[in-house]
Amino acid sequence: MQPTDIRNPDYFHKVVDCQWACPAHTPVPEYIRLIAAGRYSDAYMVNWSSNVFPGILGRTCDRPCEPACRRGRVEDENLARPEPVAICRLKRVAADLKDDIRGQLPKPAAKKNV
Ligand code: SF4
Repeated sequence: MQPTDIRNPDYFHKVVDCQWACPAHTPVPEYIRLIAAGRYSDAYMVNWSSNVFPGILGRTCDRPCEPACRRGRVEDENLARPEPVAICRLKRVAADLKDDIRGQLPKPAAKKNV
């Protein structure tokens, strides 16, 4: 049996089902934690680091992360399957409620004189 290669980021991605299912491997639990703490701009920047259009994706993404959500696999006391976390909607919440994040964005590269 091969030892686990924890240098490979996929090892960590696979552990978090929603993050692994996301084509951009967006760190979903991290941005949801930030939203829960009311830190919308920070949640937006976590999204921005893996895909630069969080507001658009929060409205248009096909959200393969949600069927992968573990929340949908646990059973509550009535043996009903709860809905997965609304991961995509939360991305939209972060984008809509963020403050002015321009100061957090990387500066454009200086134009080269050709
Ligand atoms: S909504 Fe789309 S971009 Fe966002 S975490 Fe889910 S799959 Fe990834």
